[in-house]
Amino acid sequence: MTANQLFRALPSVDVLLKALARHSGNPDQEGGEISPLFQLEDLVLPRALLRDLVNAYLDECRKAIRAGKIQSADELGVDGVMPGLLRFLRDKSRPHFRRVVNATGVVIHTNLGRSRLAEEAAQAVAEACSHYSNLEFNLETGERGSRYSHVEELLCSLTGAEAALVVNNNAAAVLIVLDTFCKGREAIVSRGELVEIGGSFRIPEVMEKSGCTLREVGATNRAHPRDYINAINENTAALMRVHTSNYRVIGFHSEVPLNEMQEIARAHKLPLLVDLGSGSLCDFAAAGLPVLAQDEPRVQKIVADGADVVTFSGDKVLGGPQAGIIVGRREYIDQIKKNPLNRALRIDKMTLAALEATLRLYTEPELAIKRIPTLRLICAGQDELRKKAQKLARMLRSRFSAAQVNVSVREGMSLIGGGSFPERHIPTTLVAVEIAGVSAKDLRERLLSTTQPMVARIEDDKLCLDVRTLEDDELRLAVDALVEALAAQI
Ligand SMILES: *Cc1c(COP(=O)(O)O)cnc(C)c1O
Repeated sequence: MTANQLFRALPSVDVLLKALARHSGNPDQEGGEISPLFQLEDLVLPRALLRDLVNAYLDECRKAIRAGKIQSADELGVDGVMPGLLRFLRDKSRPHFRRVVNATGVVIHTNLGRSRLAEEAAQAVAEACSHYSNLEFNLETGERGSRYSHVEELLCSLTGAEAALVVNNNAAAVLIVLDTFCKGREAIVSRGELVEIGGSFRIPEVMEKSGCTLREVGATNRAHPRDYINAINENTAALMRVHTSNYRVIGFHSEVPLNEMQEIARAHKLPLLVDLGSGSLCDFAAAGLPVLAQDEPRVQKIVADGADVVTFSGDKVLGGPQAGIIVGRREYIDQIKKNPLNRALRIDKMTLAALEATLRLYTEPELAIKRIPTLRLICAGQDELRKKAQKLARMLRSRFSAAQVNVSVREGMSLIGGGSFPERHIPTTLVAVEIAGVSAKDLRERLLSTTQPMVARIEDDKLCLDVRTLEDDELRLAVDALVEALAAQI
């Protein structure tokens, strides 16, 4: 058949629209009142968009004809076109921003959205965004209130600080702190702390943006009290400490203890600013993970050691929404609150709702570990993980023949991630999946385009699912994704 004959065999847009109406069995779609929305299986599409998409699919078919990929008119009848058209419509009309199943074992995966909210926090968000609220309204006086009032007391009681403020993220927190105290002046930082955090957030560059000059002291691996003292001059505005979140110096290395830095700062009437990065309110030692307690200092401890202003993230180890939390001495926090930048960096009501609900869980430490997903996943025990991996392996083996798919359970390591706990791996159990004739890399790629995308990792040339980041009800989704990925091969 010539291409022209094939073009003529293509159904028209109207014929396909009618076929879609029959396919979805919607009574309103043939005769009767026509709704502006078209219900197609579980999708609801505006009619105008549906028409455009059908046209776009027909263009794809014409391209395929020109490329010689369609050679028979049988493939172009309504029945021949429908399956491909339905796939196309589903593919083009689903939201771009959507859920993925995280089988990487990286708990705070920045690319996959960092922390998942606790149920309590998610509910608070839904409530806050679907109704009016007392966001900036004082219900006692009936007058204007402060949006920070909802979390300030909680933050103070949890960290021991005198005052608190929250902005959009921790990068913003660092920016506004430096802008408030160090603009046009110098901040003294140890050379070993000038870190770059993923996504090219560099402490020196943020300092520059805030109009603050960086005064580096010490060597990469060592700083002494005299280094700070010698660098102080009439233009010094603050001493700063940055928690080196995502790397670790091993070997010959020393930093000045925070309480000594505080003595130096106080003697020179300078504020001591600490960027903790992740920050943690959880006592990992009490939760049976003392190594983690060493890596990530608790905010309470930093405040108690005399930091004047401390900044940390809401969605790293804290396990809440994206936010930059600033706690410290009242005289300093008050100055930050008055900075006009605060208006530009302010958090929205959904963040506030999620943050308040998350912080409330911390008032009962055991509850925090049970209810906040990030903490629960970090603290998951090896027995629990082994059992979960065995369950997933059983589910997979019952769906595939051994000849098709080889499923094995092996020990492995999860990464906490999010620039916290540098290089800290925690033991986990992995389920390795091998499919004859498909490389691990291909399989990993296919899993990204299944109905429910799943991100897995590769170890020893095998596709591995780390069950640490899979919830029980996600095991089924993981199996379904693999079934679909395998079907794509045939
Ligand atoms: C992660 C991090 C930041 C940035 O925090 P965001 O919440 O991602 O904006 C700043 N400083 C340090 C030390 C960090 O680890």
